[in-house]
Amino acid sequence: MQIAGDEQLHLGLKEMIRNVPDYPKAGVVFKDITPLLKDPHAFEQVVEAIAAHYREQQIDYVVGIESRGFIFGAAVALALRAGFIPVRKPGKLPHETHRCEYALEYGTDALEIHRDAVETGKRVLIVDDVLATGGTAAAAVELVQCTGGHVAGLAFLIELGFLDGRAKIPGIDVVSLLTY
Ligand code: AMP
Repeated sequence: MQIAGDEQLHLGLKEMIRNVPDYPKAGVVFKDITPLLKDPHAFEQVVEAIAAHYREQQIDYVVGIESRGFIFGAAVALALRAGFIPVRKPGKLPHETHRCEYALEYGTDALEIHRDAVETGKRVLIVDDVLATGGTAAAAVELVQCTGGHVAGLAFLIELGFLDGRAKIPGIDVVSLLTY
């Protein structure tokens, strides 16, 4: 679902997303969130809208996906009084990890999580800035499930609906604030 509510809020937030054509490669329109981040009111509204959707769902941990997922994920974790867990690019986490390889909208990559990050059965919310093809999100879901955690949902600021990323994460609650 898309978080319902104040249309003015959504329009205002959309105005703060800068479209950068042909970055990082030709044909990709990059959604630059930095104008939104530097507006504290807008940043707070994004964090609060996501937190509000999950507040009654007893989230134990918020997983943020490197690197822009850290920005929103850490703030949502604090708003939900949940712990924060980073999912990182290969070689960045110092302890033993699970690894998952996946396809990006532009290229391929892999993600890792600490093997002991999530205790069995704990409820996890995964947060990132953009849902595009869904490969990154699906990899994050797989990693959390490898640890024994339960993925209670995924939340994104932006969803590129025309790429149908949700198809890669069936059966899990997905929310996004802004759809293109
Ligand atoms: P995907 O795996 O295709 O869903 O891609 C999602 C990841 O790539 C997220 O971590 C985004 O930060 C990044 N990403 C993909 N497409 C875009 C885009 N058009 N603008 C900004 N970030 C993007």
